[in-house]
Amino acid sequence: MEYFLNSEGGIIVNALTKTIKDNRGYLSDIDGIIGDGDHGININKGFIIYEVKIGDRKLDLMTALKMIGEVLLIEIGGSVGPLYGTFFMNMSGACSGKEKIDKKVFFKMLKAAIDGVQRLGNARVGDKTMVDTLAPAIEAYGKALKEGRSFVKALKGLKEAAENGKNSTIDMVAKIGRASRLGKRSRGVLDAGAVSCNLILQTMADAIINLLDV
Ligand code: ADP
Ligand code: MG
Repeated sequence: MEYFLNSEGGIIVNALTKTIKDNRGYLSDIDGIIGDGDHGININKGFIIYEVKIGDRKLDLMTALKMIGEVLLIEIGGSVGPLYGTFFMNMSGACSGKEKIDKKVFFKMLKAAIDGVQRLGNARVGDKTMVDTLAPAIEAYGKALKEGRSFVKALKGLKEAAENGKNSTIDMVAKIGRASRLGKRSRGVLDAGAVSCNLILQTMADAIINLLDV
């Protein structure tokens, strides 16, 4: 199909919960090289609180995104709490009132997410942050839409660009956030936020592809 129902979309956030849980140690290990080693712990803490809050309720996408966004924004520390909090809150806002989520609605959600992250954190492409994953991924998705590609094709474009964007951070010198204090010594390793952002986008895209496959 070319859309999925907002009412069915809560499972996308449940899929994110599993991905973050599975990668908690990995994300903190990466952050430990040029940061303070808490990245996986920070995000995972948010998703655990979310999981306890929802219990066995089945949420729609708008509500699920709002809940994880609020938890990250209000209850989680580090740079990433407010940044991903805003990311998910803005995504929720962009699908509020939409019964069907099609490729255009999802594009609005992605744009709202990056707008919020950049307004809050001022990071640009090349600064060695999550934006280096997010910006090219959204650009590729938008390009696919312009070319008239299907929702699934556009998501595959997003996935590929997110992976490449994440990898591009290896050669970058951090210009923002904690790792920037290391200057040139921050070159040669991945950025933890770029890695978590890639995991988030890959998981979201796969979960949507599953929902569309009916
Ligand atoms: P902290 O740096 O406070 O320990 P985390 O370890 O949870 O926070 O998150 C670090 C990640 O946050 C970095 O790898 C980077 O991708 C991202 N980050 C930090 N500052 C910014 C910013 N201003 N804009 C976008 N992303 C940022
Ligand atoms: Mg950290």
